[in-house]
Amino acid sequence: MGPTAGASTPSEPRDASERGPVHDLVINLAHPPLAAGRFWAVQAMIVAVFAVHIVTTVGPVHQVVSVPDSTTDLLLFIPIVYGGAVFGLAGSLGAALTGIALTVPMELVMHHRAVEVWEEWAVLITTLIVAIQVGHQYEVERRHRKLLRQAERTKIESELRALVVESESKKRLARSDELFHDAFESNTSGMFLTDRYGRLKSVNRSFCEMVGGVDDDLIGRTPLEFTHPDDVSLALEQYRRLSTGDVARVRYSTRYLHDDGRVLFGEVSIACITDDNGAPDTFVVSVRDVTEERALIAELEHQALYDPLTSLANRTLFEDRLSRARAYVARDGGSNAVFLLDLDDFKYVNDTFGHGVGDELLVEFARRMERVTRASDTLCRFGGDEFLYLAQGLTGSYQEIAHRLLSVVSEPFNVAGTNLEQRVSIGVVVTAVDSMDNDELLRNADTALYEAKRRNKGGVVLFTNDMYDRASRRFELLRDLRAAVGTDQLTMAYQPLVDLTNDHVVGFESLMRWRHPLHGAVAPDDFIALAEQSDLIISLGEFAVREATMEAAAWGAFEGRPPFVSVNLSTNQFRDPALLAMVDDALARSGLAPNRLVLEITERAALADTAQVATVLTHFERSGVRLALDDFGTGYSSLSHLTRLHPHIIKIDRSFIVAAEDDVARRALLEAMVSLCRRLDFTVLAEGIETEGQLRYVKELGCELGQGYLFAPAMPAREVRQHLPLSYPRSPATVTSTPDSSQLIEYVARR
Ligand code: C2E
Ligand code: CA
Ligand code: CA
Repeated sequence: MGPTAGASTPSEPRDASERGPVHDLVINLAHPPLAAGRFWAVQAMIVAVFAVHIVTTVGPVHQVVSVPDSTTDLLLFIPIVYGGAVFGLAGSLGAALTGIALTVPMELVMHHRAVEVWEEWAVLITTLIVAIQVGHQYEVERRHRKLLRQAERTKIESELRALVVESESKKRLARSDELFHDAFESNTSGMFLTDRYGRLKSVNRSFCEMVGGVDDDLIGRTPLEFTHPDDVSLALEQYRRLSTGDVARVRYSTRYLHDDGRVLFGEVSIACITDDNGAPDTFVVSVRDVTEERALIAELEHQALYDPLTSLANRTLFEDRLSRARAYVARDGGSNAVFLLDLDDFKYVNDTFGHGVGDELLVEFARRMERVTRASDTLCRFGGDEFLYLAQGLTGSYQEIAHRLLSVVSEPFNVAGTNLEQRVSIGVVVTAVDSMDNDELLRNADTALYEAKRRNKGGVVLFTNDMYDRASRRFELLRDLRAAVGTDQLTMAYQPLVDLTNDHVVGFESLMRWRHPLHGAVAPDDFIALAEQSDLIISLGEFAVREATMEAAAWGAFEGRPPFVSVNLSTNQFRDPALLAMVDDALARSGLAPNRLVLEITERAALADTAQVATVLTHFERSGVRLALDDFGTGYSSLSHLTRLHPHIIKIDRSFIVAAEDDVARRALLEAMVSLCRRLDFTVLAEGIETEGQLRYVKELGCELGQGYLFAPAMPAREVRQHLPLSYPRSPATVTSTPDSSQLIEYVARR
């Protein structure tokens, strides 16, 4: 590098040995270029340029004003050019170097020559710095590019990945769409989608079937159109809750209307799908048809609490109400009344007209009862032909209610084209304090009913405590009777049946006797009635047949014609399928000729219109066993039934014979009955002949046979055997009180 001194640099010789550094400093200060104002101007320009550069590249200013490097370079160029112009090449370079090593104005402290040396070094260092800077710049650039490339790659990768994810989720979405469609269409529950306004967008087959339509017709309509009018507000409320975001899903039960008018019960579940803004977009609704389920449950509930025939409350429900009524009385006072109603002789209706008619009568009776049942009271079918009526918090008298209940049978019942007069007996229990539990209450009502039946059918009897005693005595008696079967407590007695034309005894009616070990003789009317309430009558009846046939077989010949024996059969026995075999067996064992056995049946048993009766009648007719119609005139017989039954003997009930003496109307009836029977070729027997007058009268009527205390009461078997043959004269012997067999024997012996 050349001398830095320009044209104006002082040229006087200088010797370094002669001059010290202080001198140099003074010289330097006193001489150009340092003294030259232009030199300082160049330096100032450079400082300014660097100041601008530093300010604009460093710190916060840079972020506001960004001056490109080229601008600084350009600015620097000005002092360099200026320096060049004023001081020549050296000036130019100096200016440049000064710019570079600005912070240390070397010229101030160094000898001019040293400055020159320094300048050389400065150029070198500058070059070095520039090289380093260029290298650094390159490195920065390179890294920058690398980073850019990396970023680019990452971006592409993530985009690629996004693409892959997108396509996969699309696939998944398509798959789940497919699954949803399958689940939607083939779902057995009804399903539909609605838009935010509740209009149907899509409907599955099941729902179409539920409301009776095809999906094309349903789309665009709202499900409220198929909702039961009473349930619409409920449905609206549910949609409102979903729309406001109160809940994400609702479940409720509702009724839908099928196109054909049917009402269906549905269990509805609705989910709401929202759009990106959270507003409801689609409602997904599924409806399970629970109509059949409900019907079944209702049916089961109903069956558990209601009688299937009459639809009245059953015993279970009644007892529940009864318990409540008792609790009510215990708390609030007052009283309850329980009425137990029983249709009189309902069995007769069943037997005569068949069970279908019996059922019809029960249903009609139930309907009539419902009409007189107060809202606060409970009506129940207790079973069979028994009904219960509970008057809770009885206000009036129990008689008032009983009267109301009895009024339902005041009109005849028209069932199966027949007018039936039906009576009803009622047992009543009234309780003011809660002194009886349900079972006791019902037992006592039953006791009162029994009493009502016993006294006078078609009446009302209020339970009293003495009835309870009687009922328990009855219970004990039945227990003892059961134990008596097969012991010598039970025997058969025989009452003569007399031929009124010649006073000869032609047969005996066998009558059962029970000698109770404590109570003595018990009347058959009492113990037979007891036995008839259970199957005990079957064993008693068998005993009677076996005993009587054995006994009669032992009676010897009587004027060539041995007496027959007649045995009473109860209605229940007549229905017993084992009856025929039992009678045949008794005949076979005893050796008694079948035509010497007469079976006495009451009208009720005989007139039952059942196949069993026909079988029994045909069987006896074939085997030669004959039938007697007992207690004729007291029952229900229409005379036309007689021809079908064709009994051998008709036994006119004692009540007719007794009344005939002074009751003109009955007398006329009796005369008509006898004349008819005779015309039909039946043998007429008059029961209960006690007086000569009665005997005369029945003979006048044309009765062929007679029976009664006038001739003899029933006697023990051994007495019959001892005194056969028997015959009765038309004597003035009058029996005023019930004779015993010893009286009869005396009577027989006297003649
Ligand atoms: P029933 O079949 O009408 O029998 C006639 C009843 O009248 C008998 O009463 C008899 O003793 C009674 N009697 C006979 N003559 C006279 C009379 O002149 N005046 C009065 N006041 N009564 C007379 P008993 O023996 O007390 O029997 C009552 C009822 O018990 C019978 O009425 C019958 O229905 C039933 N019974 C008796 N034994 C049997 C039996 O072995 N089997 C069945 N199923 N019932 C029987
Ligand atoms: Ca009889
Ligand atoms: Ca009789």
